[in-house]
Amino acid sequence: MTNTYVPDRAMFIFAHPDDIEFSVAGTAAKWARHGCENTYVVITDGNAGSHEPNMTRGQIGHIRREEQAAAAKVAGATHCIFLGYDDGSLEPSLELRKDLVKLIRQHKPNAVVCGDPNMFFRGERLNHPDHRAAARATLDSVFPTCEMRLLYPEFEAEGITPHKVNFVYVSTDQELNHYEDVSESLETKLLALKEHKSQIGDNDYSDRLRERAATVGKQVGLAYAEAFRRFTITPLPQPEEEKSA
Ligand SMILES: [Zn+2]
Repeated sequence: MTNTYVPDRAMFIFAHPDDIEFSVAGTAAKWARHGCENTYVVITDGNAGSHEPNMTRGQIGHIRREEQAAAAKVAGATHCIFLGYDDGSLEPSLELRKDLVKLIRQHKPNAVVCGDPNMFFRGERLNHPDHRAAARATLDSVFPTCEMRLLYPEFEAEGITPHKVNFVYVSTDQELNHYEDVSESLETKLLALKEHKSQIGDNDYSDRLRERAATVGKQVGLAYAEAFRRFTITPLPQPEEEKSA
């Protein structure tokens, strides 16, 4: 299914700086352009992401935060939040779940976008374990924890109240049921990815990402698309067509 629904507020929760740009930044950029307030939540600093012999974890983590913040800006995100977990050892812990529940309750997104906790392989490639951990922690935070008043009642003292998310968009290649037309925003996604200079070096991933978006788009008659398995957690109070951009 494709449609033109644009959330008022969306939260993108991923493990590393650059995960959003490699996967769902076309959707993020399009929604931002149509007035959605996007919050990026990047759980780790990507502080294992260097092969340079003299680079420290502190240095690469700092560089990658700056790159991610710049990439978020390119795609029009309103907030870019770092949780500061260590790269390479992420677990879907209760500590992480609590951090995510707090952010979701604070920002009250209609849509949460994350990865697939079951994805061990993507095409010919092995998936990073942090990606699965981030996805699982996100789903476990959205439902049911986030909306349960008796879970983390201590947040209420800070004025942070339970929240029901409307939709979860899982970025995956399995059991797809939703496609976002990114024809108008693909080039913005590619520009955002270029901000991750420490990761892409001299590589230009533009052709590869364009080709992937074209392959996905072809499945539903679009020039370029990003695919999701979308879940409705709480239906919108009015048909989403009425809220479309
Ligand atoms: Zn990653």
